[in-house]
Amino acid sequence: MSNAFADIILPVAVAGSYTYGIPPGIHDEIQRGTLVTVPFGQSKSSMGLVINTHNTPPTGFMPKEITGVIPLQTALNERITDFILWVSDYYMALPGEVMKAAIPSADDLVSSSVPRKKRSSANSIAAEIIPPAELNALQNEAYTGVKELFNDHEVVLLRGVTSSGKTEIYIHLISEQLAMGRQVLYMLPEIALTTQIIERLQKHFGAAIGVYHSRLTPAARQDVWRRAGNGSLGAVLGVRSSLFLPFKDLGLIIVDEEHDSSYKQYDPAPRYHARDAAMMLSRIHGGVTLLGSATPSVESYHNATSGRYGLVELTARYGDVKMPEMIIADTRSHGKKKKAVSHFSSRLLDAVGEALAKGEQVILFQNRRGFSPYLMCSDCGWVPRCTNCSVSYTYHKSAGKMKCHYCGKSEALPGVCPECGSTAVTTRGFGTEKIEEEIRLLYPSATVARMDQDTTKRRNAASQILSAFAGGATDILIGTQMISKGLDFEKLTVVGILDADSMLWFPDFRAFERSFQLIEQVSGRAGRRDRRGTVIIQTADPSHIILRQVLKHDYKAMCRTQLEERELFGYPPFTKIIRIVIRHRDIDELNLSSARLAEKLREHLGKFVLGPEFPAVMQVQKWYIKTLLIKLGKELSASRVKEMIRKAMEAELKMPRQGMLRIHADVDPQ
Ligand code: ADP
Ligand code: ZN
Ligand code: ZN
Repeated sequence: MSNAFADIILPVAVAGSYTYGIPPGIHDEIQRGTLVTVPFGQSKSSMGLVINTHNTPPTGFMPKEITGVIPLQTALNERITDFILWVSDYYMALPGEVMKAAIPSADDLVSSSVPRKKRSSANSIAAEIIPPAELNALQNEAYTGVKELFNDHEVVLLRGVTSSGKTEIYIHLISEQLAMGRQVLYMLPEIALTTQIIERLQKHFGAAIGVYHSRLTPAARQDVWRRAGNGSLGAVLGVRSSLFLPFKDLGLIIVDEEHDSSYKQYDPAPRYHARDAAMMLSRIHGGVTLLGSATPSVESYHNATSGRYGLVELTARYGDVKMPEMIIADTRSHGKKKKAVSHFSSRLLDAVGEALAKGEQVILFQNRRGFSPYLMCSDCGWVPRCTNCSVSYTYHKSAGKMKCHYCGKSEALPGVCPECGSTAVTTRGFGTEKIEEEIRLLYPSATVARMDQDTTKRRNAASQILSAFAGGATDILIGTQMISKGLDFEKLTVVGILDADSMLWFPDFRAFERSFQLIEQVSGRAGRRDRRGTVIIQTADPSHIILRQVLKHDYKAMCRTQLEERELFGYPPFTKIIRIVIRHRDIDELNLSSARLAEKLREHLGKFVLGPEFPAVMQVQKWYIKTLLIKLGKELSASRVKEMIRKAMEAELKMPRQGMLRIHADVDPQ
């Protein structure tokens, strides 16, 4: 007998599912994973995802009926449904929020279910398909090692130093999956990287591989979505959202640069970690996951050395290119010796000058954006700040304004200090824009380019900057994290890390690990077979333990010391962290609510609850913020704790006068 009712989730922020009637005639088509149209609220045809069918009529109301089945949706299957519900459960997001993230072309699908003409991307595909490069002995050993470990591990970590040929190994693994008729998802943390890698992959896989990210046109996205679903697309190269493509049969997920924090989604919900969610997706498909990095997260390395994951290490660069020489430039001598020019030590300037004279290229890395992070009165120390967000304004020279990076509010520069009347309100710190300006003055005949959030807003802008540099049209490239990975640059020999201290002293328990990873990664771009690269790190703390480890490229030592710290202070991987973010328009109400919530949680969790505290930025766009940190020891059941937290949050939201209260949980915050 066929079922009369279906439980359906809708892409809206409500808890739970809705029950609808299944009209006669479409019974056969309705099952877990079917995408349907249903009347909901004001809308006559909202999209819904069937998660269950049954014969239990709902009590107290007459269910409305499903109005249709969205055509071509046979692609959506039980697997994606299982995944959506797992993400919702694990990351404490509403199922509808996950569904919204999972099916981005929802409106398109409903409004125009006529399949669009397949976008031809043939022009960008190499005419001739060439076989993968032959692996050298070490690479081959790593490749067979990975495959063997997959016999008894769902997850394998490939730690391969920069330029060791990890990508070549991925290419071999992809070929193998495609030959078996299974699909592959190759994930990268940033869009800018996909454009570089896709060209490399299309040489080998032609139209069998597609690319997926948010900057594609809706039609192109929908095309990948359909072809991943019907299995005609063998492999997808994508960013974190590609996890939600309705793959038919995934044999392998590759998570490249697995340590990268941009795999975690911050806002909006679902706040998922794409690396960790990938492992669950693979499991749902009966596939495997390969994590790759030159500098894995200490969590992953810990999992690998403790046997939970398989571990393969590739320690030599392809073609025996030497690791770059690492040099520390002590910025403390700046004032004394009068040798430094502005933000650049003489050490760095000498190296840049030499490189340019030899026709070589330079990268200058600065972990900040904008001309100057803040302005300050040199006489009294007053700093202009955004009144909405309580963060210092960033000075944007081109616009001649100060701008808030959280809410976008901007103001004209203060002519005089409102505190003391001094006219000496000057710029402090430095960003990529300032560096560019100074470098242009220092090297007027060099071609200089800058790559940061401001210069890469246009579609393709990032890949244009990178190609110009790769092609030798640019001598000096200045940039943020964005330039830390991706292409190999033939003539790049000098990398300058302009301000290591700002990375090291970022207030986060992962700051040391992140600094090591960033410096290693940027350094990895320097040097080729015939010329060894040089990396110059500017710092006021030359004996810092992380810098000493970076000098020796000693990843293992970094990992060991960081893990010791983590264990000592109770951080992941030795605990699990859930952050609860409480926001209110009224600061007194916020204090009351957060204290009440903390108290309730402490009844169950006691010392595991930290806070509530105001975060560094305590107000964003008129919302005051407090956070609670829950550190769960291994002895606690995370799922039971989450259920308890969920109930406590709901109870608090139901208190009177809480219309302006918002609470969300961030599981495994980065
Ligand atoms: P990784 O991904 O570890 O940074 P890549 O796979 O990008 O390393 O390899 C670095 C460079 O060496 C690339 O230009 C790549 O084409 C080249 N390379 C690596 N392995 C081989 C190989 N077996 N045959 C030919 N070229 C190789
Ligand atoms: Zn002043
Ligand atoms: Zn603001």
